[in-house]
Amino acid sequence: MLQINEIFPQLRDPKNVVITTHQKPDGDAMGSSLGLFHFLKQLGHSVTVISPTNWADFLDWMPSTKLVLDYERQTEEANELIDKADWIFCLDFNTLSRTKRMEEKLANATGIRILVDHHQEPQIEKFAYGVSSTNKSSTCEMVYDLIMDSGNEAFINESVAECLYSGVMTDTGSFRFPSTSASVHRMVATLKDKGLQHSRVHEALFDNYLENRFRFIGHILLNRMEIFYEYNTALIAVNQQDLIKYDIITGDTEGLVNYPLSIKGIKLAAIVIDRGEERKCSFRSKGSFDVNTFARKYFNGGGHFNAAGGQSKEPLDAVVAKFKEAMTENKDQLSNYQF
Ligand code: 5GP
Ligand code: MN
Repeated sequence: MLQINEIFPQLRDPKNVVITTHQKPDGDAMGSSLGLFHFLKQLGHSVTVISPTNWADFLDWMPSTKLVLDYERQTEEANELIDKADWIFCLDFNTLSRTKRMEEKLANATGIRILVDHHQEPQIEKFAYGVSSTNKSSTCEMVYDLIMDSGNEAFINESVAECLYSGVMTDTGSFRFPSTSASVHRMVATLKDKGLQHSRVHEALFDNYLENRFRFIGHILLNRMEIFYEYNTALIAVNQQDLIKYDIITGDTEGLVNYPLSIKGIKLAAIVIDRGEERKCSFRSKGSFDVNTFARKYFNGGGHFNAAGGQSKEPLDAVVAKFKEAMTENKDQLSNYQF
């Protein structure tokens, strides 16, 4: 993989560009994709964002989300654009399998694949150019760096600023995680200078849920959460009936894994959700417990040191049992916690 700055001299030559990200995109995935979209459009490129799957409604306010293609629903149109693409930007993921049904199409595409990502253990052989920095707070911060380092600060308009702010804010837990470096705050200051209205973004992302989601949260915290104090660990297991009863849709479960982490002493939190076709797992930790390694080892996943995910085809009960076994195996690390 060659360094991302090798493409800078070509940024002014109009190209067909596809931008894609991981399945079920979150704030950082969608924010970085649309931030880059709004930047590249101004340089005269023909640009389309393709999401491998649908996304949460709370992302729909972002400028130009209406133009994003959902690969599962618009496969033919998306395939044509991928066939024509000179450049394919891959944002906020680093293994092609994170794009689900798009994986094969991406793997066989003739366009140049360019990686911009901050997750651990990138498949760098799959990308011609790129940047992979696990110490970056978010992919949005990396898109910002790309714009600044290529000498294009003048193209950061309000749309670019709103999209990039969304990702850096959500991936840093509203600027509280250790990844919130001084440069993150400097970036936000620059975005403010460009006209960013940050309160509007917070409201759009966090104050648009429906009542049912809160009833659901009440239900799962009361009935589906187990705490293992001797392991400093909490687990939430959500079955399909829970999702159906409370009318839970994509995005409603985002962030729930964080709730138990605010219980005194809890250093590892996990949630397993039975999505029908698979069991989706999310892991969050504080301090020295590496959930990227944990997710890779036991749940066919990965991510960051303190935030990772995985999945399983086994039934919910089996996944819960596996989690408890994995927790027991890691007892030494979990019970002797270090910051
Ligand atoms: P979440 O728990 O919010 O789905 O994901 C937490 C972090 O881990 C995100 O940065 C996400 O991209 C990553 N992640 C989630 N699931 C997987 C997975 O199955 N494989 C890999 N490699 N990363 C994942
Ligand atoms: Mn991210």
